[in-house]
This record gives sequence, C-alpha cells and structure tokens, in this order.
Amino acid sequence: MSNLPDESAICAIEPSILAELDILPGPVGKAPTRAVPAARLAPPVDEAVAGAPRKLDPLAIQTAEAAAQQAPLAVRLATMAAVILPPIALVGAMLLAWGGWFGWLYVALLAVMYVISGLGITIGYHRLYTHKSFATRGPVAVLFAIFGGMAAQGPVIWWCATHRKHHQHSDHEHDPHSPHAGHAPGVRGAIKGFFHAHMGWLFQELTADMKRYVPDLLADRTTVRINSLFPLWVALGLVIPAAIGGLVTMSWMGAFLGFLWGGIVRICVLHHVTWSINSVCHIWGSREYASGDESRNNPIFGILAFGEGWHNNHHAFPASARHGLKWWQFDSSWVIIRTLEKLGLASKVRLPSPDRLAARSTKR
Ligand SMILES: [Zn+2]
Ligand SMILES: [Zn+2]
Repeated sequence: MSNLPDESAICAIEPSILAELDILPGPVGKAPTRAVPAARLAPPVDEAVAGAPRKLDPLAIQTAEAAAQQAPLAVRLATMAAVILPPIALVGAMLLAWGGWFGWLYVALLAVMYVISGLGITIGYHRLYTHKSFATRGPVAVLFAIFGGMAAQGPVIWWCATHRKHHQHSDHEHDPHSPHAGHAPGVRGAIKGFFHAHMGWLFQELTADMKRYVPDLLADRTTVRINSLFPLWVALGLVIPAAIGGLVTMSWMGAFLGFLWGGIVRICVLHHVTWSINSVCHIWGSREYASGDESRNNPIFGILAFGEGWHNNHHAFPASARHGLKWWQFDSSWVIIRTLEKLGLASKVRLPSPDRLAARSTKR
C-alpha cells in the first residue's frame, strides 16, 4: 500500500493558503497572467486569484516527505554544525590573519561570495520562491535558487515553508521565530526572545508543514530537484572560493584561506545578517505601515541585507518585489530585479498601488 499522502487533501489546501498569503499559484517564474493586473499593481489579499488546484507530482511528494522526515538527530547535528562551526572558523581566520596569513584576495572573495549568496537568499529564496513577487525567464530562477543554497540556510522549499509560516502568524503564536510571542515581559524575557528569534528557533522548529505551506513548490519538479541537491550547492559555495584562492596564489594555503574567508566566514556573516531580519527587524526601527505585527524598518539591515531590512514595509506588502518603498530606502535587491526586468529576464513585477500604500500608512 502506498504511504503517499492523500493528494486531494493537499490540493484542496493550496488555493486558500496561497490566497491568504497573497502568493500567486503555479510554478515559480510562471505566475498566471490573469492574477496580475496590467498596471503592475498587486491585488489585495481578498482579490488574489487562487486559480485551479495543481496536480502534485507523486515523485515530488515522496521527495518532500523524505526531506521532512529526516532523522531528528541527523538534522539537529547538521544544524548545530551549520550554526556553531562558522563562528569558530571566524575566530581561527582572525588568528591566522594576526599571524600574517591574510591578503586582499580573501577579502574580495568574502565580499563577492557574500553578494552572490546573499542575493540568492533575498531575490531567489525570498522574493521569487516564497512570495512570487515577480516572474522570470530562462535559467534565472534556477540560478538564484542555487546561489541561495550556497548561503547554507537550508533547502529552498523548507526555507520558503518556514518563511510563509512566519508571515501567516507574524509575532503571534505559531510564528517560528518571533522575539515577542510566548516570551515573558521584562529584560530576561526580552533577551530570551531575541536569542530565540535570532538563532534559537533553528534548534526547535525544523519542519514547517510543507504540504500546507508550499504545495505550489512541491508540485514543481525543478524546484524539488534543486531542493534535494542542497548539500551540493553548499559545497559549491565552499569549493569556488577555495579554487580561486588556490589558483591565484598557486598554493594549498591560498586554497585553504579562500575556503575559510570566501566560504565559512562568509557563511557566518550572512547567517547573522539574515537572522537579524527575524530578531533585530522585529524589535528596533520605524513602523511606517500598519502590518499587524512588530516588524520594523531598520536602515542598517536595509543596506547589509540587500533591502530586506525594510521589514515593516515587507510585512505590510508581502507580495511587493520592492521592499524599500521610499526613494531614500535603498534596496539593492530591487535595483537588480528592475534591471532584470529591463533586460527582459523578469516580468509581472508586483508593487503595491498608491491607494494601498496610503491606506496602510501610519503617518496621516
Ligand atoms: Zn518578519
Ligand atoms: Zn517575506
């Protein structure tokens, strides 16, 4: 007897959850035209067209089920290694630099790999796969998902499921990483809440309900394949800077330092910048739009996290491809999405209408 889940039950969920989160149905990069008004304006949640339920690929379900049912111990050990090893490597890299094992090549490798994997998370994992705030052509979607994988923040489908759950329950019970919900008032509660939102949640909530939150991604064979090859993308993000470091200096030490700075140290820095969106950007900053939660606009992470720090804007208008909604809110991910659009590589870019912006503004 097949142990596959009941497909009809999964498909029945898709329209409601996607419509609730204002996410267009269908595979990534091919959002249906009829759901996006010609004027590039994102429809309000209640107007979002859910479309007909898609038939799920049985192989995709099986792969996702296997991914969701990994042995808890193995998952916990891998998470612990991914969280704890990079800071240890950072200390080691600094000690080596102190001893003279350092060069601008490694700073450049760190910077370039930070930008590539960081944009993979912000443009790929977040704005494209999770929120479908624009559509793409050719291999663009696949490339951004691979770049995102290099950030070592988890397979794309799991990342999207967790993030959609965050939006659905933001700063309320069931939010996977709120610094507020479930934490006692006072300094002790605030510190515990911050730690939980920043990285503590990674040890507690490893599996969101995939079938509930990402039926559209599970139905897309390409996305499932990219998801299952996640360890390969992480390895690629380590091998590329090591190879460049080794080839430029023609030494094993150069390869090791490339691996250290462009690989592990870069992962460490990007981890903490990304996690700060969940912790810092739900505590410190301004609230320009009514979003029903504690999300904030924080300029420091607006810059460091490629526009993701305009987090209050994002929670107020989750389907918008642009997070820095004011001219002075620099959003480098948005600049790239606009450039892709001008090059004909992105389309159906979603933005909130002036009426919706005005209706949600807290500054009247
Ligand atoms: Zn948030
Ligand atoms: Zn989001």
